[in-house]
Amino acid sequence: MPDKSTSSKTLPAASSAAQETAAVAAPETPAKPVKIYPIVKFGDPILEKPGASVKKFDADLEQLAEDMFASMYAAQGVGLAAPQIGLSLRLAVVDVTAGKNPEAKIVLANPEIIHAEGEVREEEGCLSIPGFRGYVMRPQFVTIKAQNAKGEPFEIRGENLLARAFCHEIDHLNGILFLQHLSMLKRDLIKRKIKKLRKLGEW
Ligand SMILES: [Zn+2]
Repeated sequence: MPDKSTSSKTLPAASSAAQETAAVAAPETPAKPVKIYPIVKFGDPILEKPGASVKKFDADLEQLAEDMFASMYAAQGVGLAAPQIGLSLRLAVVDVTAGKNPEAKIVLANPEIIHAEGEVREEEGCLSIPGFRGYVMRPQFVTIKAQNAKGEPFEIRGENLLARAFCHEIDHLNGILFLQHLSMLKRDLIKRKIKKLRKLGEW
């Protein structure tokens, strides 16, 4: 992990000597090491309760968002919501390129769906329910409004996987898991298997 996170910020190579002589130049804040959070698994009640609105946008929140990206990449996910790291907060991160394109990193604070269109039925999984997947109907296009890590409001439209990720993460912030979108039969089957795994100490 440290490789990826530190190498993405390139410093101008030749400038260091010049900056040393200009002693008063504002020191660059060193990038804090990222924290990789363990992912909370199904069964923890925090996953099934709505998160509190993000109200304080400060350096800590920006750091938390970066830590969430790092935790998501470490777990090989394309989206992660704060309740999944044990924080009951309306904050999520999404990157459907799984870290390949830094431009694709999206921080969603207090996100809301403002428009949805079309339907796509596709298989879906969740970092909090590892090893289980199910077909979930989601809108093909969604437009959401949210705030970024600095608190600035924005709107973004997503299609297919991105639309699905937005819906999945916003569900998390409302205490809803993808299991709730499955048929009762399929949902109960997964829940029974998880119960068994828990008994074996494998969950
Ligand atoms: Zn999930």
